Amino acid sequence: MQCNLCCSENILLKFTKRYDNKYWRIYECQECQVEYVCHNYSQEEVLEIQKSYFNLNNTSTDNSIYWKNELAIIMAIGYNSGAILDVGCNDGQFLSICSTPWKRYGIELSTAGDLAREKGITVINKEITEYKFPDNFFDVVTMFAVIEHLKDPKGLLKEINRILKPDGLVVIMTGDKNSFKARTKGENWHMYCPPIHLWFFSRKSLDLLAESCGFKSIYHRYTSGGMYWSKNRLFQIIEKCFVKSIFEKWFKQIPFYDHLYAYYRKEQ
Ligand SMILES: [Zn+2]
Repeated sequence: MQCNLCCSENILLKFTKRYDNKYWRIYECQECQVEYVCHNYSQEEVLEIQKSYFNLNNTSTDNSIYWKNELAIIMAIGYNSGAILDVGCNDGQFLSICSTPWKRYGIELSTAGDLAREKGITVINKEITEYKFPDNFFDVVTMFAVIEHLKDPKGLLKEINRILKPDGLVVIMTGDKNSFKARTKGENWHMYCPPIHLWFFSRKSLDLLAESCGFKSIYHRYTSGGMYWSKNRLFQIIEKCFVKSIFEKWFKQIPFYDHLYAYYRKEQ
């Protein structure tokens, strides 16, 4: 057996996860650290699972404060305008924050894309590799909570490299399996939910994957993703008052919380 990303044959079975009344084998590559679910689903079957998942999770929750912050970070890095593509744009909450002068495109395979279209966003209801955008077309491509769902993350990143302009930016948000939070939760980490999630990255494995697809890491940060550590109300208050307010600027550079935001520039 080979690692699906780096082709190493140094693979170990990490654990077997019971989820949705089935047992799933999760392997870890000893070279690049990526973990992945062993499954026999076809590309079409994976897509059907993802579609039902996103349709079920399409809510009208207002997360605009998070999206405004995300756009502010992209602009602070030096990307202020141009064509932006959000892969897995859901109902368009992030792209609706990106007003003029951005030209907004979204990829969404579920019916949530209809809601994004109503917000004036150009939404493509096809896989990115099927649609065939022109070479060097986008200034920024974002993927929030998408890469862990894919059948072929490497194929998608190579396609993103093709459609990004030279020096273009790709932003990837996913869970970090090596973060302190994920390590303390162990096999019960909420991201281990196969076959909804098929890949589990560390910062190192994501950097190695991006580099192999022609990208250079330029920035990263960690957040709690708005989620609390504990269900206990007292712990939540302590976390909100101390960790999230006083220490957050320091925490965002270290893998304490498990939401990893990684920023990569396309190499010339
Ligand atoms: Zn590997």
